[in-house]
Amino acid sequence: MKVPKIMRTYCPRCKTHTEFSVGIYKPGKRKGAKKGERRQARRKKGYGGQKFPEQHNQAKVTKKQVLTLKCNECSYGLMRKGMRLKKLEVV
Ligand SMILES: [Zn+2]
Repeated sequence: MKVPKIMRTYCPRCKTHTEFSVGIYKPGKRKGAKKGERRQARRKKGYGGQKFPEQHNQAKVTKKQVLTLKCNECSYGLMRKGMRLKKLEVV
């Protein structure tokens, strides 16, 4: 699916329709020093490995993709509901 680079929609901060620049959400880089990473490392330490089952055979073929919107007037950020698509591009 192709999505336009600029989208006109409602901005809760401006309280009117404004132009938003569109991007695709990408998860951040995992940092080893974060709480969850430290906890997981502690869980996996010693005898016995994984503490919760790893999912092997996925039913879904696609991942949910989220659009991030940013107001061009007040730079308020929005996210659109995730949609399942094979390919998503901003044109
Ligand atoms: Zn705004």
